[in-house]
Amino acid sequence: MQILKNATVVQFDPACVIEHLDIVIDGSVIKEVGSGIADHYPQAKVRDLKGKVVMPGMVCAHNHFYSGLSRGITANIAPSPDFISTLKNLWWRLDRALDEESLYYSGLICSLDAIRNGCTAVIDHHASPNYIKGSLSTLRKAFIKTGLRGMTCFETTDRNNGSQELWAGVEENIAFAHLIDREKRAGNEPYLVEAHIGAHAPFTVPHEGMEMLREAMKSTGRGLHIHAAEDSYDVSHSHDKYGLDLIARLDHYGLITNRTLIAHGLYLSDNDIAILNEHDAFLVHNARSNMNNHVGYNHKLAQYRNLALGTDGIGSDMWEEMKFAFFKHRDAGGPLWPDNFTRFLWNGNTLLARNFNARFGRIDVGNKADLTICDYDSPTPLLAENIGGHLAFGLSSQSVHSVMVDGRMVYENREFPFDVAELYAEARKVALRLWQRMDRLS
Ligand SMILES: [Zn+2]
Repeated sequence: MQILKNATVVQFDPACVIEHLDIVIDGSVIKEVGSGIADHYPQAKVRDLKGKVVMPGMVCAHNHFYSGLSRGITANIAPSPDFISTLKNLWWRLDRALDEESLYYSGLICSLDAIRNGCTAVIDHHASPNYIKGSLSTLRKAFIKTGLRGMTCFETTDRNNGSQELWAGVEENIAFAHLIDREKRAGNEPYLVEAHIGAHAPFTVPHEGMEMLREAMKSTGRGLHIHAAEDSYDVSHSHDKYGLDLIARLDHYGLITNRTLIAHGLYLSDNDIAILNEHDAFLVHNARSNMNNHVGYNHKLAQYRNLALGTDGIGSDMWEEMKFAFFKHRDAGGPLWPDNFTRFLWNGNTLLARNFNARFGRIDVGNKADLTICDYDSPTPLLAENIGGHLAFGLSSQSVHSVMVDGRMVYENREFPFDVAELYAEARKVALRLWQRMDRLS
């Protein structure tokens, strides 16, 4: 039993701010929340937060931990004037150069970065075409080493090797979901990592692959995680080759469910959005990535029933991601306000609740103890009605003081419970070798 004493608790839905609360945690779950209750538990380990802000854990709902060693890349990248050439010259060479060691360090660096920025969970979308079998377990090891919660899946695609590659991708997704099931059945703790069934994007998944994904979703009970309409090319390709809108095509194979997550969706039709809403599926918006890739803007954010925020591989600073999402929206003349974007940020918890079959996103009895703890001495009143304003204009990753996941402090007083310097030193060596391998690939 442990207690976080004297917290300023911020809840997002419905919004409220309550000072001087004690949070009692039993194992991985919140047991009681109240004022002056710490004394009822004389045996518990007590941390006095002295008024620090405690909020439900932040979730990055779309990320690529395989890109963790790409920062400042010096491999020889040909000029890439458009999105498809950026994929071919950079990302599809990086992912082909990954091996077990580089993927593990990439996952580790990304997990540490996520925690340091206040994330309690990251939903990952993975590709490593020359290291498919076992790759998701390698990523899981990185999550578990750092104590970060998350999900991952393999981006099924035919872009390198046709049918054989499709099959290997789907097999890895199924094998990983079965591994998670076995761990759950055995009651192995901590239960930190879940599975999606992954696919790259509709334009690299032909009929045969869609059929395999349908079977995989059915046999594992998991949802789909896929890019769609990140660029207008995906839409044109679908119209030209299949005569269907993107989501209509996925729905034709039964792939849109309430556990399905679509990343980007910049050019989805109103009918496609209606299909997602009807099935209670999620769209994940990645504002900074869309800006970085110059693919345009998603002008229809307000139409989605379920919208969450992701970084698409640009770290896991969700404070910054939320700010960019809001400012870009303002710049585009959109109708939404900071409280809408706060809601989008919080929505990642709904994805966790659906996939982990547990309660997330409230500092309440029975919820998972996934908490982001901040030092925030606000110069203006912090109130239920202005949390969005504080997130857009005040709070930032620099406010993050501690992070609790599954009832465990994975980052406390701005420090990890293990030495990270040697991991970073090793990662730098591994990154250099990865970049050298990229140079040997066409
Ligand atoms: Zn992505």
